[in-house]
Amino acid sequence: MSGVSLERIVKRYGALEVVHGIDLEIAPKEFVVLVGPSGCGKSTTLRMIAGLEEISGGTCRIGDRVVNRVAPKDRDVAMVFQNYALYPHLSVADNIAFGLRIRRTPKAEIASSVEEVAGILGLTPYLDRRPADLSGGQRQRVAMGRAIVRHPEVFLFDEPLSNLDAKLRTQMRAEIKRLHKRLGVTSVYVTHDQVEAMTLADRIVVMRDGRIEQIGTPMELFNDPVNTFVAGFIGSPP
Ligand code: ADP
Ligand code: MG
Repeated sequence: MSGVSLERIVKRYGALEVVHGIDLEIAPKEFVVLVGPSGCGKSTTLRMIAGLEEISGGTCRIGDRVVNRVAPKDRDVAMVFQNYALYPHLSVADNIAFGLRIRRTPKAEIASSVEEVAGILGLTPYLDRRPADLSGGQRQRVAMGRAIVRHPEVFLFDEPLSNLDAKLRTQMRAEIKRLHKRLGVTSVYVTHDQVEAMTLADRIVVMRDGRIEQIGTPMELFNDPVNTFVAGFIGSPP
């Protein structure tokens, strides 16, 4: 399993710099959550790791490999979004298999992988259904299944639960945690929800205005925030 290393990462849109030289070492199998207010650069940072945004400066490594110029599909990362786009005309099984098909994986291997992933996510009874006939939580599981099935080195999550209602969010949070325990895949998870951060993270990265304010375990940030911004963000009631 690979870790992720960001060294002085910068993102500029034209003359506008939105990420100002971030340093972050994520260990193999670690679950790191990026939190901070809207517009602070969480998604941009995640998308640079995914290769969906060009890196303006600094170095991004996945494992030992510098990936600054590596295409997203060759990075061995899988991303789960808030607006998980499932293919409406495909069954659950075919949605999960999609990423394997385009990589020309052998048929028998696809079938056994889909079966395994469906088992892990509790989707076995629904494999023949279309997305329209699933609940919101089941759809989110299919989206995660699509990510898991490729056995990526790194999972990237961008506010994957923010479209779900509170009850389902709590349930899916537990599910993501269970999944991480089971698969142990290095994970970078973006949210603006501090409860999500506190419950999921091995370490939390608090961001503000394109910079990191503090990195620490949930308890470290809770007990020993470096400033009132971190204290307000982590300590404020859900
Ligand atoms: P977050 O995910 O923390 O809400 P983002 O990473 O999406 O924040 O955005 C960080 C900053 O970069 C914001 O000020 C946003 O307006 C700006 N930004 C994001 N994408 C673009 C873009 N394509 N062009 C110009 N500015 C952008
Ligand atoms: Mg965002």
